[in-house]
Order: sequence, then structure tokens, then C-alpha cells
Amino acid sequence: MLVDMTQVPDAGWSFATAREPARFGAGGLEGAPGVEHAMADAGTLCGIPEQQITRYRHLFHAEGRQACARCRRQADAAPAQPSPQERLHDRVRAAAQGRARDDVLAALRKGAKIALWINGPSATLAQHYARLDELTEGAGPAADALEAAAASGLACVEDGSWRFIVVLPENGDRPLVARGPRRRG
Ligand SMILES: [Zn+2]
Repeated sequence: MLVDMTQVPDAGWSFATAREPARFGAGGLEGAPGVEHAMADAGTLCGIPEQQITRYRHLFHAEGRQACARCRRQADAAPAQPSPQERLHDRVRAAAQGRARDDVLAALRKGAKIALWINGPSATLAQHYARLDELTEGAGPAADALEAAAASGLACVEDGSWRFIVVLPENGDRPLVARGPRRRG
């Protein structure tokens, strides 16, 4: 359950300050206990193949005494992860021009709350999450976009008195932004 907090403009918020250090799972080489490696998508950061590694259920601690030195250096050098706001902003930039698009981009740049961001069958998103009947701008195109794509991403951004929805069709169509007044209470 997401808590609706009063939105206080945070002058210090930016995409740069909101980035977080990259995090990696931990793993160990079979038959070589006592050294923990950082896990990439396949194998370790230091290059040990996946088949030789057991993945652990905790994160790699670069400062830990058991940390592999090569993995530690690579983990420290890994680029920071963009915030959800920055990732959504990058997607919305491809959306069709319009006031709602410009306003949601501006809202994301100052750290507006993303109340929801899910992927799934478009029909389910339209029926249970998009709240299309509450939209006052772009409702028709949003419904059409959800109709046209079998699966989509759907993000809801809350900013001041507005609730934006961003439809991210998985069929390659452009993202679409619509909005309506934000529900109070
Ligand atoms: Zn390693």
C-alpha cells in the first residue's frame, strides 16, 4: 500500500541526486568457501561462469571481508542507477507532443511521486488501474492505446492537483500521456 504524502517541493531533488549505487547479488564459487563474488546477469563481475557459481540470497557487500577484490572494484565502478522518475522521463520523451506530456515531464524532473508503475495485459490495466473515466485530457487516445496493444506498461504520476497516466505500449507504439484531477482523501 502506498502512502499518500503531502508533496513538498524539494529544491534539492534532481535526477543526479536521486541516483542510487548499483546493487548486485552475491554468489560463491563451488568448493571455494570464504570468498563472495558480485553476480552479474550471467556469472560474476570478475568473470567466473554461471555454472561454477552458487547464487546466495543476499546482496554483495563490497566492504565485506569476504568480498572478491576484482568484484569489489567492478562493483564500485558500476554506474549509479537512475531513479524511477528518471527512467519514466526517458520513456515519456518519446510520447506525442502535448501539454500533458510537457507537464508530466516537468513533474518528473522535480521528483513527482510515481504512485504506480506496472506491466500487464492492456485490458486488465484499462479495467482495473487506468481509471479512464476519471481522465479529463487524453482519455480517448489512452483508451485507444490500451485497446491497440495486447500488453502495456502503465504508470501513474501524482503532481499537485493532477493525476497523470502514462501508457507504454509493448507493441512499439509511442507512449501516451493523459490526465485528470487527482482524487482527494
Ligand atoms: Zn569475483
